[in-house]
Amino acid sequence: MGSCGNTEARYLKMRGSGDQPNPGTSQSQERHVWDSVKKAAFILGSGLFVFAAFRNTVTWHLQQFWGASGDFWQSQWGKAHSYFQGNEWVLFLLGTMVIPTMSFWILNGFLLIVDATGKPQLITRYRIQKGKNDPVEPAKLQQAIRTVAFNQVFLSLPMVVVMYPIMKWRGNPCGTELPTFHWVLLELCFLGLLEEVFFYYSHRLFHHPLLYRHIHKKHHEWTAPIGIISLYAHPVEHVVRDVCI
Ligand SMILES: [Zn+2]
Repeated sequence: MGSCGNTEARYLKMRGSGDQPNPGTSQSQERHVWDSVKKAAFILGSGLFVFAAFRNTVTWHLQQFWGASGDFWQSQWGKAHSYFQGNEWVLFLLGTMVIPTMSFWILNGFLLIVDATGKPQLITRYRIQKGKNDPVEPAKLQQAIRTVAFNQVFLSLPMVVVMYPIMKWRGNPCGTELPTFHWVLLELCFLGLLEEVFFYYSHRLFHHPLLYRHIHKKHHEWTAPIGIISLYAHPVEHVVRDVCI
């Protein structure tokens, strides 16, 4: 979930002014795509190379750290488990819905105060698009808050409810035992990368004229977005891109 002003600007620039690109534009697009592929291969390849070279040393040190603190995390998890009397559904709901939603509103609540008042200058001076939404229009802000709350309560929450039995069937997500250190590391790296790729390409897909007109346009109504606009989207986009991906 993220705001995408820069990607958007770059993409619109790439698209040029018309829907039918001329041969020159198409050639430069191809070159641009090829350049991107080469850059991605270089960055990922270098990362993998460095990781492979230092794998044993790095994992040994991290394993030492995890070994030293592993008991700590396991005992905290055990405490949480017994506090909720082994009710794994409550733990799942807390971890996937309550804590992320509270974090979203607490952090954005602070930024909303800044956006609504235009103060303190210590923070507003770092605005990227100066003079826009500074301070933000109350009616526009209320409508955005309503949309984001609707997406969280009526779309994210039911999806989490539906996902629980499926995740339980595929392997218990809230069992008493924490996963091993290597597994955590692998999942963090792999899923982080996967999410970036899926998020980027699904976003590009939503810029297809048909999808843009009917779905994605809503997300870009705010041309100078604020924090909560990361979840300001059409219901279809929220379900597909913000929750599934
Ligand atoms: Zn977009």
